[in-house]
Amino acid sequence: MTEFRRSRSGASPAARPALSLDTEATFLKGAGPAVAQRLRGLGILRVRDLLFHLPLRYEDRRKHQSVARLRPDEDALVLGRIVATDVRIARRRVLRVVIDDGTGGLSLRFFHFNEAQRKNLIEGHWMQVFGTVRAGTAGPEMVHPQYRVADSAEALQPERDLTPIYPLTTGITQQRMRGLIEQALRLAATDAELAQALPGLDGPPTPDALKVIHRPHSDEDARQLLEQRHPAQRRLVREELLAHQLGMRLLRSRLKSHPAHRLLAAGDAVAELQSVLTFSCTGAQQRVLAETAADLQREHPMLRLVQGDVGSGKTVIAAAALLAAYRSGLQAALVAPTELLAEQHLRNLSQWFGALGITPLFLANRMKKAERAAVLAQLAADQPAIVIGTHAVFQEQVTFSRLALAVVDEQHRFGVQQRIALRDKGGTRAPHQLIMSATPIPRTLAQTVYADLDVSVIDELPPGRTPVVTVVLSNERRDEVLRRIGEACAAGRQVYWVCTLIEESEELDAEAAEATAARLRNELPTLHVGLVHGRMKSADKDAQMRAFKDGISQLLVATTVIEVGVDVPNASIMVIENAERLGLAQLHQLRGRVGRGAQASQCVLLYQPPMGDIARARLETMRSTTDGFAIAQRDLELRGPGELLGRRQTGDIGMKLADPMRDAALIPPLQSLADRWLIEHPALARALIARWVGDPERYAQV
Ligand code: ADP
Ligand code: MG
Repeated sequence: MTEFRRSRSGASPAARPALSLDTEATFLKGAGPAVAQRLRGLGILRVRDLLFHLPLRYEDRRKHQSVARLRPDEDALVLGRIVATDVRIARRRVLRVVIDDGTGGLSLRFFHFNEAQRKNLIEGHWMQVFGTVRAGTAGPEMVHPQYRVADSAEALQPERDLTPIYPLTTGITQQRMRGLIEQALRLAATDAELAQALPGLDGPPTPDALKVIHRPHSDEDARQLLEQRHPAQRRLVREELLAHQLGMRLLRSRLKSHPAHRLLAAGDAVAELQSVLTFSCTGAQQRVLAETAADLQREHPMLRLVQGDVGSGKTVIAAAALLAAYRSGLQAALVAPTELLAEQHLRNLSQWFGALGITPLFLANRMKKAERAAVLAQLAADQPAIVIGTHAVFQEQVTFSRLALAVVDEQHRFGVQQRIALRDKGGTRAPHQLIMSATPIPRTLAQTVYADLDVSVIDELPPGRTPVVTVVLSNERRDEVLRRIGEACAAGRQVYWVCTLIEESEELDAEAAEATAARLRNELPTLHVGLVHGRMKSADKDAQMRAFKDGISQLLVATTVIEVGVDVPNASIMVIENAERLGLAQLHQLRGRVGRGAQASQCVLLYQPPMGDIARARLETMRSTTDGFAIAQRDLELRGPGELLGRRQTGDIGMKLADPMRDAALIPPLQSLADRWLIEHPALARALIARWVGDPERYAQV
């Protein structure tokens, strides 16, 4: 059979392109139009992209394991004779099969199966299965293992090599993917572009490294790959990190090359804002105010991230920048990740701006049509404006007549793609971008994720704050906690009681919060207990928050919706129920809601025993430190960068092999290498970006 099939569009064989890495993947054998479309969903357009579609992990199917030695949670390949099959109809149909390899019986369960499959499983025949072992009631079992059946054991040999497991999409199997990559590898052997030496990078040449990663042959290769220390892996990790640095640098220089509005009023705006503040700014705030004011006066857009722990006073920085735009006769927007937080910003900023005679506009999804239309009209009109809202502000229907600045609160939910989209909101001039994050990111990770941004750090809390004391208590001591709450409220203090997510459902979450509020009202009958959760109407939520802020309610039961930014200085106790369910970043954010006033504050982390090791380590971290950066570092160690940044951001980093945390030490030399490459090898730089980041246009067209 030939290696390629004819184009489906009816082109004559003569028009068939000679296959190379630059050919569209659809010309490969086994990749018709339907498959090609699915490949596109994975970012694979050309044959070359297949080469850089790397295994997520490997499965070791090189040896049959004996049933007697199986351990729960391990992946294993097992060969046995089918000794029993039956179909049970309990709540749903289940096909159960038992195989025996002479050392014991292994149960298999299938919930999805058809008649042909069932008939194929004949008692006395042999079955080779691969799957994760679980401890069943009657010995080891596997649920939906992969399997092969034959009438003799000889027909079911183990694999000779490690089995690479690729990221897939529906409609493409591992086998299909392996077949396609096999063809790409054959073409790679003769590709000149791929064979180019990469100056400054040592290790095996790219084509050799790729071959090992996709098709490990020797036992030595297998061992090193499984331990993640193969020279081929190390080489490709460095290539990927370099490509990422190059891409981010290119993105930055493109964004920076656009003209921006010079906000010459920026310096005066800082002084003007300070004249209405009831406090004086910390040294760290002053420094960051000066940094942003300098940026805003340049003729190219500011791209700045302001990092500061919860309560460090980032809002002041945002306010000064917004005012600078307004006083320059232009428009500025501040967006927050939740409506609750946007409303709070509106309240706070309305106080400061109100004193200066400015009324900010508000824009959110759940607004009345007419109200919304009025705001849109004002933004489209040729007049200065400050608008505060959720990300709805940057939706397509919103047109600004002269947007000069976008402030984004909580950067970890805002990625590169959105930063690029933002640029287009400003018309001929690109808006300045100020991004604020209360998720302290360890430097090691920041240098990868924010390689395209300048970073300012507010590393000082406003004076007069007493550090929060944290205690970790088992649910069995709930009564004690209630007693303490009663005493504290009697003394005029206020308390948050946070219910954590039980299911991935806002609805159930809301129900749980309602039940908790009811229970607490019963247990603490003298207190006024408020309640906020994600399913409440915006106005109700607002009323509840306001009542708490005004001291009308003493105890506020809330879901994790209050996680970011909510500010009630008189609240000095934070109780988090089932704290073992939350990650460190979230716990830190929640704890940041207290300790904002002068009085001593407490955070009570309630847990339901028994607790796993990681949960225990998390709560111990919370108990022992309030330093956001230390907590972030620990979080990264316990969970990996993906979770810390949230899924969207990981998608944006889009790393295939590299792990910015594990590989942190590799990054600094690659940063200077990237600078050199952009000057000395610009074409090679583009090629490397295309290989690793995929669509080079993503950076190039900015
Ligand atoms: P962040 O957004 O960084 O978590 P905020 O901007 O919400 O913090 O500020 C937290 C609280 O501290 C607010 O009530 C704010 O008014 C107050 N604040 C900010 N800066 C200062 C300061 N320099 N001195 C005293 N209070 C401050
Ligand atoms: Mg904030």
